[in-house]
Amino acid sequence: MPSRSIPDTLAMIGALIERPTISCTDPRYDQSNLPVIQLLAEWAEGLGFRADISPIGASKANLIATLGGGADQKGGLVLSGHTDTVPCNPELWSSDPFRATKRDGRIYGLGSADMKSFFALALQAAARFRPEDFRRPLVVLGTADEESSMSGARALLSENRRLGRYAVIGEPTGFTPIRMHKGVMMEGITVHGRAGHSSDPALGANAIEGMHAVLGELLAFRAELRARYRNPAFKVDYPTLNFGSIHGGDNPNRICGSCEMQIDIRPLPGMDLDTLHQTLENRLAPVLREYPGLSLELRRLFDGLPPFETSADSDIVRASEDLSGQPAGAVAFGTEAPFLSQLGMQTVVMGPGYIDQAHQPDEYLPLDHIQPGIDILSKFIERFCIRPER
Ligand SMILES: [Zn+2]
Repeated sequence: MPSRSIPDTLAMIGALIERPTISCTDPRYDQSNLPVIQLLAEWAEGLGFRADISPIGASKANLIATLGGGADQKGGLVLSGHTDTVPCNPELWSSDPFRATKRDGRIYGLGSADMKSFFALALQAAARFRPEDFRRPLVVLGTADEESSMSGARALLSENRRLGRYAVIGEPTGFTPIRMHKGVMMEGITVHGRAGHSSDPALGANAIEGMHAVLGELLAFRAELRARYRNPAFKVDYPTLNFGSIHGGDNPNRICGSCEMQIDIRPLPGMDLDTLHQTLENRLAPVLREYPGLSLELRRLFDGLPPFETSADSDIVRASEDLSGQPAGAVAFGTEAPFLSQLGMQTVVMGPGYIDQAHQPDEYLPLDHIQPGIDILSKFIERFCIRPER
C-alpha cells in the first residue's frame, strides 16, 4: 500500500542503522541518540504527526509523535521503542554493523532487531490511515538510553506523562506477545572492619569473618524467597539471588579491614523493589551484632528495574493474542514496560526479530517479519485508534 510521504521500509531501516546511537554506562562508548530522534521526527511529521522532542540531559531526547485523536488525547495507542543500541565489536561482524546489509533473507546491522526496524514498521502501519480517520490518537514514542540507564522511560514517569491508554513495546519477540517479566535490583554490601597485624586477632576486626555471617543470612533469605514466591509462566519460576562478586583484604598477614560483595536479585511480578530492599536491610542489620568492631553498609548499585505484569484479561493482551494467534507469556529480559505500566498504560511487549540475535555480532531482522509486522501493527491501530470500542 502506498505511503503518503515517507521512504520505503527498507530505506528507513537502513537510514536508522546508519546513524549510530550507542548508549553505554561507560562514557567512552556513549553516544547521542539525537540523529535517530530527528530522523524519526521528520518522517512522522511527513505523515501528519505532531512531533515533540523532549530533551534528556545535553545530548539525548525522547520523541513523542502524536497523530490525530479527538477529545480524548490520553485515550489512544502508543507504539513504543528505544532509539539506542548496545555497543558492538565490529571486528566480529561479517559486515559493517552500521550499514544495513541484505543477505540470506535477512537484514543485518546493529539495531536491526533491537530495535530500530520497529519504528519503520510502525510508521508504515500509520501511513495506511488518513489523519482524519483517527478517533483516538496514535503516539509513536522513541526513548533514550533503554540499554543503559533507562533515563528516557524514567523521565516520562517522573513527568507523569501518560501518553495513551494502551502501549505496544516493539522489542524483538518474534511477534509473540509478552505480558510479564521479572525485575532487577543490584546491591552492594560492604562489611567495614579494622586492619591489623595477623599475629593477634585483637589488633583488628576482620571484615571477611563478618561477611561469612552476611553470606549465611543471604543464603537463608534466598531459600525463603524461593519457597515463598513462584510463577509458573517463567522458565526460572522463582525469584533469584546471585552472588556476583566479592572483594576484600590485601595480604595474608593482615587482618582484613573491608570486604564488599555485590548481588543481583530478580524479583517476580507482584514483588516490590523498595520493600525488598527494606527487607534485606532489616535482615542484615542484626547479623554483625556479635562481631565487635564491624559495621555494615548496603547500597543500591542502580535505580533498579521493577518487575512487569499486565493482566491476562486486559484489552491490550487480548488484542495481542488475537492478532498474533499466540498466548501472551513471559520473558527473561527486562524492558521499559514497567515504567509505561506505572504511568497507567496497559502494556504488552511484542515486535519483529528475535532477542537471541540482539546484543551480538551479526544481529539481523528476518525480511519476512516486515510485511506481517506492518499488518499486525495496522490492526492494532485500527482496533485502538480508528475503530475504538468506547
Ligand atoms: Zn531492546
